[in-house]
Amino acid sequence: MRAIITGGAGFLGSHLCDLFIEKGWEVVCLDNLVTGADSNISHLLSHPRFSFVKQDVSQYIDIAGSVDAVLHFASPASPPDYLKFPIQTLKVGALGTHNALGLAKAKGSKFLLASTSECYGDPEVSPQPETYWGRVNPIGPRGVYDEAKRFAEAITMAYHRYHNLDTRIVRIFNTYGPRMRLNDGRALPNFLYQALVGEPITVFGDGKQTRSFCYVSDLISGIYKLLESNEHGPVNIGNPEEISILEFANRVRALVGASVPIVFRPLPQDDPKQRCPDISKARRLLNWEPKVGLEQGLRITYDFFREQVRSTSRMA
Ligand code: UDP
Repeated sequence: MRAIITGGAGFLGSHLCDLFIEKGWEVVCLDNLVTGADSNISHLLSHPRFSFVKQDVSQYIDIAGSVDAVLHFASPASPPDYLKFPIQTLKVGALGTHNALGLAKAKGSKFLLASTSECYGDPEVSPQPETYWGRVNPIGPRGVYDEAKRFAEAITMAYHRYHNLDTRIVRIFNTYGPRMRLNDGRALPNFLYQALVGEPITVFGDGKQTRSFCYVSDLISGIYKLLESNEHGPVNIGNPEEISILEFANRVRALVGASVPIVFRPLPQDDPKQRCPDISKARRLLNWEPKVGLEQGLRITYDFFREQVRSTSRMA
């Protein structure tokens, strides 16, 4: 079995590469390394079933040989990243998805789209079920990501309906774990980094907005189960344990044992007030639910970030 993983050198993509290699697949990882990092896949480079191609998938994708699954994970995904790369984000969500679908169609392979809870925008219902259509501001700064992913879902369903392509759509909620970039600007890396180096923890707004954090191994196992299923509609994968960002900052600070203050900064535009996955569909169809609690996941991630901070300061 042979999988093509776009964005395979990113945080989630690289964990996916690991899982597919572990399951005995041959894996071709495509990444232009805009937000991915070769260090995420360096341990795989000498593996006989793994290969890496440095490529922007917004350009035509040319792969020789048979393919059994295309998993499209390429995209900047943290808010500061997609604000920094708005055009690339739109292109990889639109043109990149089109190319990845075209590849799957040409090879007669399965296709799995990495979609997002951002499709729900700033939601009026919580938790969010897959049947909720969302509340997205198309022209706001986050629109570049949200609308690209909504387009990606629409074109994936069109390929399914019109070309009979065997497609899957996973709506990924906030995920964390080793290999997140120290400086990717998301809440968890920011808070851990700040607590580790003794800087104030920056909470945006009043910190009452909520998120639900899923540990990476849970997410990846859910995605594999989805690929093995026959479900073509979108499926939420995330951890329904909801927490306010202020409480989250306090937990991180306590874990690190840092006495740094929490400071409040302006809330970015269109920042969702609440986000929590309704995972009944994943429970029912995939017999999946997360196993790693926040306490346990944070501890593992903390160890990873502590090592990162140490090696960065050794290099400085
Ligand atoms: N956030 C924060 N301080 C930071 C970074 C983020 O308070 O230093 C907030 C952000 O405004 C949002 C939440 O934490 O309400 C989660 O942000 P993140 O960037 O992790 O991802 P999002 O869920 O918004 O895509």
